[in-house]
Amino acid sequence: MSVNIEGYQKLKFDLSASHVELVAVSKTKPNEDILALYNLGQRVFGENYVQELVDKQASLPTDIQWHFIGHLQSNKVKYIAPFVHLIHGVDSEKLIQEINKQGAKHHRVIDCLLQIHIASEETKFGFDGPEIHEFLNSGRLVNYSHVRIRGLMGMASFTNNTSVLSKEFEGLRFIFEKAQPAFTHGQFNILSMGMSSDYALAIEKGSTMVRIGSLLFGARNYTK
Ligand SMILES: *Cc1c(COP(=O)(O)O)cnc(C)c1O
Repeated sequence: MSVNIEGYQKLKFDLSASHVELVAVSKTKPNEDILALYNLGQRVFGENYVQELVDKQASLPTDIQWHFIGHLQSNKVKYIAPFVHLIHGVDSEKLIQEINKQGAKHHRVIDCLLQIHIASEETKFGFDGPEIHEFLNSGRLVNYSHVRIRGLMGMASFTNNTSVLSKEFEGLRFIFEKAQPAFTHGQFNILSMGMSSDYALAIEKGSTMVRIGSLLFGARNYTK
């Protein structure tokens, strides 16, 4: 086990000062690592792969709040709909339709974040600013009563260049603030941005939720 207990405690301390929520990203990590943080009080965990999330949810304590932070295919929503606490990467209206349908089936309103494309890389999913405003101002959201849009999520470019990262986080914050009036007061209040390497900067730029994996659990090994 390579869980960084000291790092966790320091991070929790730093985040509590700025009221930022920590999502401990446990993808590829074993249950014992998750339990190590659970036993220190951590309840919010993030996973990227549907099957892995379903397996972990079934075998770990039921008061864990599971966030799905990966790219979600419509045909897999049904597996996580019964329990998922927040879906971060909602990147199309087709996916919203499916989450709404599965939410209705399970008598749940499922909290979601719309993913915004902020990075320069082509491969990252998400809406862009104009698309999100078109969607939010279209009135179509009222059709999805089993989906509650709680805010936005973004992934910055894979770079150490602080000025590039700053611009991307600022851009996301701008879209977030512009979108807020489309919602009931207080509902749209989550800005999920920042990972192990860039969370401090993300918080400086207004993040309210950081998704942190390797800093807590060590580097991931995908070949296992
Ligand atoms: C894996 C992942 C993270 C965590 O990344 P670290 O660099 O390990 O902190 C955060 N967000 C998303 C969307 C991820 O896929």
